[in-house]
Amino acid sequence: MSKNKLQRLTAAQQRIATLRGSLGEFDYVCSGNLQCRMLPCGNPTCRCKKNPALRHGPYYYWGRRKGGRLVQMLLTPAEAEVVAQAIRNYKAILRILRQCEEETVKIIKIRRGRRD
Ligand SMILES: [Zn+2]
Repeated sequence: MSKNKLQRLTAAQQRIATLRGSLGEFDYVCSGNLQCRMLPCGNPTCRCKKNPALRHGPYYYWGRRKGGRLVQMLLTPAEAEVVAQAIRNYKAILRILRQCEEETVKIIKIRRGRRD
């Protein structure tokens, strides 16, 4: 293998090692999305019926796919904060996995071109 290819191979392997190391920085991980809604109640005489600005809430709904189905869960504000961070973690991990995949493709291509 040429010196240039060996250097590119080593660099790609080091980038994967760095990416793998950053995976250890995450704790909670969730897929899905978080919605914050203000809702009317069931009381027909309540102020929220006439004025949408006086609806109740906020209510936090966490939506995610589970076994191909969309499931929703009502969360407390404290839980919503945890889930919001967990969703950010999930997206960050996905970005890292995609970058690892790109580096792996580079490595396969570099190795394929070797002559030794
Ligand atoms: Zn109401």
